[in-house]
Amino acid sequence: MNLETKIKVLQNFGKIKLEPLRQWKCDACGGIIEKADNGFLEWLWVDETNQEGNFRIVHKSRKCNYRENDHLYLSKGMGVKDLGLEYFVGPDGLSELIGFLNERNLKDETEIYELIRRLHVPYYEQARQYYDVAEEDGLFDGTGEQSAYRYSQRVILDILDRYA
Ligand SMILES: [Zn+2]
Repeated sequence: MNLETKIKVLQNFGKIKLEPLRQWKCDACGGIIEKADNGFLEWLWVDETNQEGNFRIVHKSRKCNYRENDHLYLSKGMGVKDLGLEYFVGPDGLSELIGFLNERNLKDETEIYELIRRLHVPYYEQARQYYDVAEEDGLFDGTGEQSAYRYSQRVILDILDRYA
């Protein structure tokens, strides 16, 4: 089955629940972010080391944001940063994220790899919740955590087929 047919089949069985590259699951409340304009990319910044990390995709709503606990982070010497999710979608958004890899003092650059997949690899945002169980089931046998194979469309659609 080619990928286009596979996508149609998954759609017919109601297994595709997020519009690819246009909707996300909020890292705070678990609800759907209906469009980029409704979301933030937010992260924490450590004053002492100037390191940035703990990136999240969340609703633009105080209850879902690190800013809700601003005072707590401030007391630990950290600050909150955020930017509208609309700055991270499309070709300019991809360039923005690659810029993060090059220009920022990141705590863990694999966080940005994950954001690039979530924002730029179709269907990954919905499939990512099943990667742990897919790993247990041996779907990735012997491949590294950042291997291209794991994040190929064939594998992502196969995961939705099995677990969604
Ligand atoms: Zn939320």
